[in-house]
Formats: sequence, structure tokens, C-alpha cells
Amino acid sequence: AANAPVLTTCPYCGVGCGVRVDSVKTPVRGDEQHPANAGRLCVKGSALGETLGLDGRLLYPLRRDRAAPDALQRIDWNAALDEVAARFARTIAEHGPDSVAFYVSGQLLTEDYYVANKLMKGFIGSANIDTNSRLCMSSAVAGHKRAFGEDIVPGCYEDFELADLVVLVGSNTAWCHPVLYQRIVAEKERRPQMRIVVVDPRHTPTCDLADLHLPLAPGSDVALFNGLLAWLARHDAGDRDYVEAHTQGVDAALACAQATAGDLDALAARCELTRDKLETFYRWFAETEKTVTLFSQGVNQSRQGTDKVNAIINCHLYTGRVGKPGSGPFSMTGQPNAMGGREVGGLSNTLAAHLEFSDAQQRDCVSRFWNAPRLASTPGLKAVDLFDAMHAGHIKAVWIIATNPVVSLPDADRVREALRRCDFVVVSDVVASTDTSRHADLLLPAQAWGEKDGTVTNSERCISRQRAFRAAPGEAQPDWWVLAEVGKRLGHAGAFTYASAHEIFDEHARLSAFENDGERLFDLRGLVGLGAAAYDALAPIRWPVLQPGQGSDRLLGDGRFPMPDGRAAFVATEPQRPAHPVSAAFPLILNTGRVRDQWHTMTRTGTAPTLGAHLPEPFVDVHPGDALTQGVRDGALARVSTEWGSLVARVRCRTELRRGQIFVPIHWNDQFASDARVGALVNPVVDPISGEPEFKHTPARIEDF
Ligand code: SF4
Repeated sequence: AANAPVLTTCPYCGVGCGVRVDSVKTPVRGDEQHPANAGRLCVKGSALGETLGLDGRLLYPLRRDRAAPDALQRIDWNAALDEVAARFARTIAEHGPDSVAFYVSGQLLTEDYYVANKLMKGFIGSANIDTNSRLCMSSAVAGHKRAFGEDIVPGCYEDFELADLVVLVGSNTAWCHPVLYQRIVAEKERRPQMRIVVVDPRHTPTCDLADLHLPLAPGSDVALFNGLLAWLARHDAGDRDYVEAHTQGVDAALACAQATAGDLDALAARCELTRDKLETFYRWFAETEKTVTLFSQGVNQSRQGTDKVNAIINCHLYTGRVGKPGSGPFSMTGQPNAMGGREVGGLSNTLAAHLEFSDAQQRDCVSRFWNAPRLASTPGLKAVDLFDAMHAGHIKAVWIIATNPVVSLPDADRVREALRRCDFVVVSDVVASTDTSRHADLLLPAQAWGEKDGTVTNSERCISRQRAFRAAPGEAQPDWWVLAEVGKRLGHAGAFTYASAHEIFDEHARLSAFENDGERLFDLRGLVGLGAAAYDALAPIRWPVLQPGQGSDRLLGDGRFPMPDGRAAFVATEPQRPAHPVSAAFPLILNTGRVRDQWHTMTRTGTAPTLGAHLPEPFVDVHPGDALTQGVRDGALARVSTEWGSLVARVRCRTELRRGQIFVPIHWNDQFASDARVGALVNPVVDPISGEPEFKHTPARIEDF
């Protein structure tokens, strides 16, 4: 038990709230000093204490014999690590480095992520490491890079309190990022004249706060923001000086926007909005200097997610509203450390420290810093492609860490089959039995929240410590330690000598500053050389950190961008329809998302009684009119089917949905309800630039069960 309060960080969403643990026996509280939450916690964070039980924990390394899959055999760590290294080494020797892969998670701490990426890209020599963050924010990463030259979130949470107009696009902020939502609610109460616009096909709980809700047709976001750009130009509402001095490509983007948006009536018809609502939104945006546009999974999870991001950023560039107090585009990440993963190269198409494969000098820089002459030279496979390659037999050994792809990936039954076909599957997790770990040849016990030690970065670039406040049970180990031990056994002892998370963080900070003359904004030079005690005491700080103790609230506000010519880029974005249209066989559109009190595949939140009480079973929301035509009843069970799979859920008739849409939450899996994995139903269509799947639009049908 902790003797003194321990300050740590919530392991759930990308708000990244500070948590105060006084004792393992008392409920956790919000950390009053943390800049993200100033003492607030949502219901998930408040119930963290309920998730600390050891029921179902994976406590020891276990080996599975595929001939007798239920008879798991306990083995010691040495045997487990030797086996991972030997099987990976043999596969690499026989089939090359691209025959192996890691699939990791935004739940990992930055230090774990750093070592995983270094091992795969630097020393195995393949870039086949991808992360479940691919599923939530890779479109934002790609959009940032196209517009700004680097993956930069320019603003911070305070901007939501300074703004006079907050536009929430594709985000049920009230449920998915509750503490940020609470901050906006408090500010709206203080300044009722502050305006809130919600852009979302569903009327979600977030709409309670909205002055204007735009229930646009699914997939019409690019048209909506192209229309805004054209409207701003027509009404001379841009910032000409800013555009002239700090951007390039405006003419092409504007021409594309004007050509594709058409007149307001045509646009309103395309977006299935009233002309009045459209004009009101455009007028408010034009006349409000302090405007923040938050976008989240409703934007990112699309075959055109990257274009949607750029269509939004275009409007902010055109008005010169980037990185200024109270104004800017703002990508809200799903997970607690999606940002940290972006910083260390957790995505298969990036190197560490925001360095890029496409730049030979940058590859050379990482190679020399790590002393890794066999550094991967080209991007690896993105999540959906990676499991496709496994299904096809090209990936023959995989190590899955802190994630449950048999539930969370699209076309999830195919993912399960891919694991069955894979010669060697290692799963590191805190939970003994998940839909994914049931296919593992080797299970490795990981330390959980409250046991492990390191850092995470939230959506406003704020690096916070996660601190241990109790001993790990059984033989659970930090993921970085396990990865480093395998690295040593693969013959790279000198590169993986870490004795602590602190040493890894220091190396990560040094790499960010290595040969960085200011051309890369991700820079932690002010954190280089922190002693162990200073690392342990590290207070939350937003990067870049150029001087000790001095973080950065905002970036890009001076109009200088990390592009070769220093200018931000407009991107011409042409609206596309979702990949698969509805049909007579599948007449409805399946949309997926989160509920308020659960997290991901429920392996942790599913154990908290308080959280389970909110929505205790899988459900499908249906418009009452569609329920009538499809022959399903409110409160009865129904089967939801798509071309890819099916599930059974309880029908809830809801007028909050548009006609023609159904909504199923992402959380339930075979642990908590049979026949309820929505991932099995989702089409495996991805954005061609970001690789992010189209979770929001799969043609479906619903039938009485
Ligand atoms: Fe945790 Fe997110 Fe809730 Fe904050 S808002 S307490 S980070 S789940």
C-alpha cells in the first residue's frame, strides 16, 4: 500500500487526467495540480480502484500446446524469453525480417513503446511494428504532416476555455472525453454567449450543450468543410495577409472546394442539412476569431479520414487561426498514450522522434544514434494489412502487446483466423484470457496500471508520469524489460542494457535533440540528463521542452511551419462516398463507437461493478421507424449482420439516430457476452493514406432474433 499520496495518470482516454492515490484502500481522486483535469475525474477514472483486483490476472509466463489448447503450462521467464528469441531468430533466418511483426498499443507507456520500436525497426531490421492507435488517430497524424510538415497538435486544452466558438466534429466528447467536456460545460456556464456546434450524424449526449447540431449525412464531412472554405472566400472572411505570408496551395484547394461544394442548396442536399443550419454554422465560423475545431474518431475512422482532417485544417489556415490562444484545429486522441506512441515511432510508417523513412538523412540519423546499421529502410505494414499478410502466410511470428485485435480490428473473424494460421503467436497482457490470448503459443505477464512506471503523453502534448504505487503480482514484468531481454537474446546486448524506465526516457529525450537544429518541433532537450530522482518527480509538461522546466502551451502560432519552405500547405480535398453503399440486402449503415463507462474491449473496466451498471449488456440503437420496417422491437434481441459477420444485441429504439443508421458499441466481446464482437461486422476498408479503418460506415441489416 502507498504510504504517501502517489500522483499518477489515468490509463484510459486521451484527456490524460492526473490521478491521486492516497491508499489502495480508498477511492482514487483527481490530481488538483494536473493541467488536464485540475482535480476532476470522470466515472471511469473514479472507478480505477475497482479494477485493481487480481481475478483473471496473468501472473506467470505460460506455454500452450496447440494440440491441447486448454492445458497451459507454466514456465519460467528464462525459458519464455529464450523461446521468443529463438522462434523469432529462426523465422527471420528462414524467411527474412519482414516475416515477423509486433502489434502494440496506445496503452503502453512511452518507454515500453520506445524499446519495442527500437528492437523491431533498429535491430530486427523490419518496420513491421504497428499499433492499435492506427485505429483511432492515424488519419490525424497524416493530416497534420500534410498540412504542417510534422505531426503537431498546435493548441492545448485551455484553448477550449478561451474560445468563443467550439466546433466538435465526429466526437461524442461528453462520453468519450468527459473531463474535457466538463471543462467546456463549466466555461459555457460562465460565458453563455460562447457558442458550441456539434457536427455528428447522431444526436449524442454532447448535443445537450450545443447551440447548433448538424446531423450531417454520414461521410459528407469533406463536402461540409469544403463548403465552409468556399463560403469564407465568397464572403471575404479569410486572413489574406496570413495566407499570403505563411501558406501555399490555397488556389488549388479553393478551386477544388468551390467546384465540389456547389451552391448552398446543393450542398445542403448533399449533407442532408437545412440550408439555414448550414448558413448559421458558416456565419458563426466566419465571424468568430477565437474558434477551436475539435475532431475525433468520427472524422478519422473513414476511408477519407486524412482528407477530412485536411478539409478542417484548410479552414483554419484560411482564417489564420492556428496555434493562437483560443483558436486552432485540435485532434483529440482516443488512448492515454497514442501521442507517446507517435513520438517514439509506434506507427509502422514513422521512425522515432518524428523522423521519417522518406528522408535518407533522417534514417541515417536514427541509424547512427542507435548504432543500428540494419535499421529498416522502408515503412512496414499498417494494422489491417499486417493481419492480412499474416492470413496469407507472409507474417509467420507475431508479438501482440497490450491489445486485443480479435475484438477491436475490422473483419475480426479474419484476424482470428490469421492468428490460427500464424506459426508463432506471443501475447503480453495483464489479463490471462482474452479473445486474442486464446490464440497465443506463449503468454507473458505484464505489469498493470499502478504497478508500472513511466510516462504518457496526452492529446495536448502533455507528458505525465504514470507511477507505481503497489508491487506487481506473481511474476509480472514491465513490457520494456521483456522486450529488452529478447533484444539481448537476439544478439543485441549492447543496445538494450536499460536498468530502469528512467534510462529509456533519457535516451528518448536525447534522440529528440540529436542533430536537431530546430527543424523538428518534437524536441525534449530540456529533459535530457534528468537524474533518476528528477524523473521520478517530473511534473506534467507539454513538449517541446527546450529548457529545463519550460514546456510549450502552443505551437505554430508564429506562422512558421516545419516545412522545407516554412509554409503550411493547403490540401485540395475532393469528397468521396463511403466505400460500400447500402443495398437491398444490407439497407442500413452500421456506426460504431464507445459508451460512457467502458473502455476498449472491457478487459479492465468490465471488472468494475460501478461501470457495469450503466449499460450492462450489448445493444444496438435503431431509429423507431427503421425498427418498424425491419421488424424488430424495442427491448427484444436482434441479429445484426453485414457481409463480414454478425452479432446478437438488445434493440434500443432511439430517435437520436438518423433514419437508416444503427449504432453498436465497440466494447463487448466473448468474455462478457457471446456473439457480440462488433469488429467482426466492420468492413476492412481503410484510408489509403493513413491506413485507418472505416469503422463508421458498414452496410448492415437487422432481424428479429
Ligand atoms: Fe480518465 Fe479520460 Fe476520464 Fe480523465 S476523462 S478520468 S483520462 S477516462
